[in-house]
Amino acid sequence: MKKVISIVLIAQSFLAFAQDISKERVVNIISTLASDEMKGRKFGTPENDRSAEYIAQEFKKNNLSYCYGDSYLIPFEYKGQKGYNVCAIKKGKSEQSLAFSAHFDHIGTNNKEGDNIYNGADDDASGVSTVIGLADYFKDKKTDFSMVFMAFNAEEIGLIGSKALSENQNLTPVFNNIKVLFNFEMLATESQFGKNAVFMTGDEFSDFDELINANAVNGLKVYPDPYQGQQLFYRSDNVNFVKRKIIAHSISTVDMNKAFHYHAVNDDINIVDADNLTSIINNFAKTIEKFNTKNFQPKYNDKVKYDF
Ligand SMILES: [Zn+2]
Repeated sequence: MKKVISIVLIAQSFLAFAQDISKERVVNIISTLASDEMKGRKFGTPENDRSAEYIAQEFKKNNLSYCYGDSYLIPFEYKGQKGYNVCAIKKGKSEQSLAFSAHFDHIGTNNKEGDNIYNGADDDASGVSTVIGLADYFKDKKTDFSMVFMAFNAEEIGLIGSKALSENQNLTPVFNNIKVLFNFEMLATESQFGKNAVFMTGDEFSDFDELINANAVNGLKVYPDPYQGQQLFYRSDNVNFVKRKIIAHSISTVDMNKAFHYHAVNDDINIVDADNLTSIINNFAKTIEKFNTKNFQPKYNDKVKYDF
């Protein structure tokens, strides 16, 4: 009898969590991008190209379509160096789209003795693991919204990759259908609001956070940006999409008062709170799953500026 009960329990929990992204998966994505072999994923290095190729492979495993042409990798040039952004799309019933993004580049290495690699596990392999995790989650699901998945390059040298992508004419049809962009930036550590909590930049400009909170599952909570003085809304990749009048906010857990790993060599896999990040990814996925083109129409208010 005991055996039967435990089999039933295992079957139930398997069904309940069958679609959940596992902690192992999240750790695996971050460990790959933040490995010493990737040498800090600096724009213009072979390791930066390899990171883009890795993300493209994961998009392929999720049967995503190309945003245009015949590759997920979208080349651009900056100061004579070539690099790639990564873009993929999942067709839903509607052409209207939700977009998810994070930057995959980081700041490379330094010339000091000892550990000289900026692994960038939190900044921003954690965001990329969120984007890939969402692609995993929705792989076999029929959604009302279409979904756009983007990994930006060259963020660290001035939001260059997202600018190039946002201005790419081939993508105009894709971008014209985006209703909202979730840009994930540094989610590896517990927020100042505790676990299962994130903050959103530019919360005062739209009703996006209210809509998420009204539908949030398992206690996930989006807080207003507590670091207003830092102008984070205008300092992340989301801003290049704000310029296109797309509702685009950055979502983060970073505690700016104690993020000593920020742009330091100890931003590696050891600082990642994988349990917390995994729940955040799954809870976002399940919250987003509740949205359709009728019940989810976030809007900017008139406080937002498009030119700056
Ligand atoms: Zn970053």
